[in-house]
Amino acid sequence: MILTYALVITMLCLLGGFIAGLRHTLRQRNARLEIALAELRDLATLDPLTRLPNRRAALEQLNSQSEKAHSQRAEGTPVAVGLVDVDLFKQVNDTYGHQAGDMALCRVGDALRASLRQGDFVGRFGGEEFLLILNNSGPEAAHQAAERLRETVLDLQLPELPDDYRLTISVGITLHIADEPVESTLFRADQALYEAKNRGRNTTVLLPPGASGTPTSTPTPHCEKSGH
Ligand code: GH3
Ligand code: MG
Ligand code: MG
Repeated sequence: MILTYALVITMLCLLGGFIAGLRHTLRQRNARLEIALAELRDLATLDPLTRLPNRRAALEQLNSQSEKAHSQRAEGTPVAVGLVDVDLFKQVNDTYGHQAGDMALCRVGDALRASLRQGDFVGRFGGEEFLLILNNSGPEAAHQAAERLRETVLDLQLPELPDDYRLTISVGITLHIADEPVESTLFRADQALYEAKNRGRNTTVLLPPGASGTPTSTPTPHCEKSGH
């Protein structure tokens, strides 16, 4: 009897140990799975160079902001959308090498992110282009924000480039209308960017929805075209 009792206790102890081991293994597997899932999420949504949201994530964000703006239309929450393009960036690669260009792009991305208000969004839209989504920003506030970014980039220290090298950006900005497809907003932002390039770069151009005539822009007091 005592022997049977001891045997049962031993078996139970062994079973308990086995279950504890199983639990531990499962917990480890779950942790590994979570890490793998997080890595997959990063791969799908983050740009590997700048670690900013990639184009796919930027478009998702834009669509979601658009839906929000639509549902809150009565409260009037304008969303501004901007395209930022680094000026004459091919020259950076051609003159200082692709690696220096990569580093400079990272620094521009970091500077844009650091200069935005919390809740605003910047993603890498492709190449040397970034997408901005500015919440609760009417035309004036959006223009001011874009100008702040432009000046921030102009002031950037870029150790991989000569000391006096100034990288500049052009910004095209517009407002998203609640009912319009985001593609139309992007098209307008692109038109504004095109106009900024036409005006000599290192400038912000605002193209309000439905604007006819010339978009508004700011002078480019720091524009240093020589040497670029
Ligand atoms: P613009 O002022 O008209 O925009 O002139 P740009 O030279 O910036 O424009 P262009 O479209 O001629 O060249 C863009 C350059 O950006 C060329 C391309 O090699 C470079 N570029 C795009 N993505 C990357 C990247 O990830 N790393 C590096 N180093 N360069 C990149
Ligand atoms: Mg470009
Ligand atoms: Mg460019």
